[in-house]
Amino acid sequence: MLDLQDIHTYYGHIHALKGVSMHINQGEIVALIGGNGAGKTTTLRTVSGMMKPRSGQLSYQGGSIAGVPAHRIMQQGISHVPEGRRIFPQLTVRENLEVGAYTVTDKATVEQRIQEGFTFFPRLKERENQLGGTMSGGEQQMLAIARALMVNPKLLLLDEPSMGLSPLFVEAIFDIIGLLNRERGTTILLVEQNANMALSIAHRAYVLQTGEIKLSGNAQDIAQDESVRKAYLGED
Ligand code: ATP
Repeated sequence: MLDLQDIHTYYGHIHALKGVSMHINQGEIVALIGGNGAGKTTTLRTVSGMMKPRSGQLSYQGGSIAGVPAHRIMQQGISHVPEGRRIFPQLTVRENLEVGAYTVTDKATVEQRIQEGFTFFPRLKERENQLGGTMSGGEQQMLAIARALMVNPKLLLLDEPSMGLSPLFVEAIFDIIGLLNRERGTTILLVEQNANMALSIAHRAYVLQTGEIKLSGNAQDIAQDESVRKAYLGED
């Protein structure tokens, strides 16, 4: 579904991705783990068109998307939930969802998608008219994901969905990610510092270190890998 071949992405002179190759098959949850500054966020930004790779091949459903503007990539079915959520604090839950569907012109479709979102996030339905900014961090993360679903994506890019959340909410968010994958058939690329949780729900995983893929494979095998356990799973 998505294929990165030898991708190099820069911030000015900073060489953030140094030849990243990875792929995601339709229907998978793929975790991308790694320490601070490894390039996880940059990988997602490159896929969603927020950043343009300087070289390498980037293809989605068989066609090249390297250099394609972000809104066009979104229209092709890739939706990005950025780090730090960035919902609109002054808008209600419902309004946030409506803004997420700004590219959808048919009102009935918008309403249908809002209701679909509420089936995955009943907590949002209860808070439909509450201002986004007054919700807890976990609820805002739910809203950010529900908003990303408004464009009916085939591939969801999630950047650190568990960041700053209490353990209970972390579990709730990961449960919903699993549910979206199983019931909605959404393919998911999941960036996480919480490697334990990410590997527990992912099918496959990649380990990124200073802009390079160091390891890849089945998520269970990665979770057993000694170097991964020491570096990312908090073991001595
Ligand atoms: P974290 O988990 O800390 O968010 P990450 O794995 O997501 O880390 P990136 O944010 O992709 O890492 O950063 C990769 C590299 O690019 C780092 O060296 C970082 O300092 C650099 N970088 C990221 N954003 C910018 C920017 N806006 N300008 C310059 N350099 C940047």
